[in-house]
Amino acid sequence: MNNSSTRAKCVCPHCDEKLPKQPKRKTRCPSCGEEIYVRAKQSLFKRALVTKDEAIVCDELPILEAYGYTGDDFIHRWEDLSRQAGQNVMPLDILWGILNELQHNLAKKGDLFELSNFSYHMAIILNKEGKNSYHCLRSAAMMRLEYYKKSKEITNVQILTGKDKSCENCRKLEGMILSINDAMIDMPIPCEDCCSHLFDKAHTFCRCHYVGAQRVW
Ligand SMILES: [Zn+2]
Ligand SMILES: [Zn+2]
Repeated sequence: MNNSSTRAKCVCPHCDEKLPKQPKRKTRCPSCGEEIYVRAKQSLFKRALVTKDEAIVCDELPILEAYGYTGDDFIHRWEDLSRQAGQNVMPLDILWGILNELQHNLAKKGDLFELSNFSYHMAIILNKEGKNSYHCLRSAAMMRLEYYKKSKEITNVQILTGKDKSCENCRKLEGMILSINDAMIDMPIPCEDCCSHLFDKAHTFCRCHYVGAQRVW
């Protein structure tokens, strides 16, 4: 049997095989070929070498803390739900449970601006996971439009892109001004023909967003 400190430090989080040396950054396991991430400054997992899903959870903890969920809260919820389920629930599922709850609370408060930012953030997490995030980007854009519409002082919005991080299709929209109503009907963003990427190579990620604009005529 491996001694516990070796097990804790230098084994693949997927296949449990011992690694030839302690990786300092993201690498692939020579035994199973899966990706291994290094997250040393966290106390959620008793090892620095984690899976991609676990790394996503680690990286989200500071954001959850900003919303009042501590690392301990996360662990308690994880333990409780695992006990109820009679098996170890995936930490990523715990994360999504909390995210959905936070989103629900923002919706109850009617905080459309925060809700829009939160949906965009959820889209980033989905992209990190390697999943399609279009629906989250779309609701982020829609919520931003609803926020401006409700504010009543603004009748037009302007599209800002990620400039040189955006693809050529998105960049064509840079600076475009349109009425809130037209934007809600046409939904020019997220761009359906966006071909730029954020974390995931298999799914595109449109960085375009709306800002309030003055009437320009
Ligand atoms: Zn492995
Ligand atoms: Zn775009």
